[in-house]
Amino acid sequence: LAKEAGKNRYQLFDPVSDRRAQTHREYLQRLEQALAAREFVLYYQPKVDLSDGRLLGVEALIRWQRPDHGLVSPGEFLPHLQSSHLELAVGGWVIEEALDQAQRWREQGLDLCVSVNVSAAQLQQPGFHDWLEIALRRHPGQAPELFELEVLETAQIEDMDAAVTILRRCGELGVRFALDDFGTGYSSLTYLRKLPVQTLKIDQSFVRGMLGNADDMGIVDGVIRMALAFRMEVVAEGVETLAHGRVLLQLGCHRMQGYGIARPMPAEALADWLETWQREAPWRQLHAPAAL
Ligand code: C2E
Ligand code: MG
Ligand code: MG
Ligand code: MG
Repeated sequence: LAKEAGKNRYQLFDPVSDRRAQTHREYLQRLEQALAAREFVLYYQPKVDLSDGRLLGVEALIRWQRPDHGLVSPGEFLPHLQSSHLELAVGGWVIEEALDQAQRWREQGLDLCVSVNVSAAQLQQPGFHDWLEIALRRHPGQAPELFELEVLETAQIEDMDAAVTILRRCGELGVRFALDDFGTGYSSLTYLRKLPVQTLKIDQSFVRGMLGNADDMGIVDGVIRMALAFRMEVVAEGVETLAHGRVLLQLGCHRMQGYGIARPMPAEALADWLETWQREAPWRQLHAPAAL
């Protein structure tokens, strides 16, 4: 503890943090090259209705295909992007790429709802609404209702009323919104009622913990009931096993996403995954009660 306190006190002159700042700048330059060299890729993770196995859509998740380093996960490089000039550029690329991919799938006969994660900075950037409108217009085949933006519940939203306005205006374009990692932030119920958001995504930490922990189970149950009360849809993240799926169905949540269903995969792998998923039909083992 004393060491910790000492570290903080001398932080300004700390050669360690100085080196860290240098590393950060270099990393950021590398990310800028990566964007130009098209080294970012989107992986897609299916969301399904586990009561009947239906594919509801896919969530786009960014990765960095770094030459000689393999696939770098967003947890590693997104923190470097945050509050840099590159954050909006990469965020814009993600939306364009996801819309392009949706179009490629449609040409193959797969009409999919595609979800994209957006940062608070991206959403609150002046002109985001107009930019999004143009991006959607460039993809006339994509029904805006099949395009969803996931916003972190913990997002650094400074001005809630302004955020409500942005979400409303973007919602008027037809796009849908989901609150991501729900349960980890501080949404007041008042705002939850006001926010033009159609879906809550229960954070995976609660879903993973719920089978062994009564508190987590209580949170999952509570979020599901709240979503129903607000006439919102609810998606459980982090469904790693069919046992999780079975309990969620019993609790009244049937939209799910997780390694137990599918891991995020390259776009080209989706059709094969879907074929196997439908042939093996693992959800049939769940014997969901007819009432669900
Ligand atoms: P998220 O949006 O909550 O996405 C879910 C994360 O959990 C993904 O990690 C996914 O691979 C992982 N996951 C899914 N199912 C399971 C499971 O059953 N078990 C476990 N242990 N993990 C599971 P990933 O791809 O590393 O992304 C991490 C976070 O980075 C995302 O969390 C999202 O907040 C952010 N992110 C990813 N792509 C983008 C992007 O294009 N833009 C922005 N702004 N953020 C992104
Ligand atoms: Mg997400
Ligand atoms: Mg999440
Ligand atoms: Mg997350």
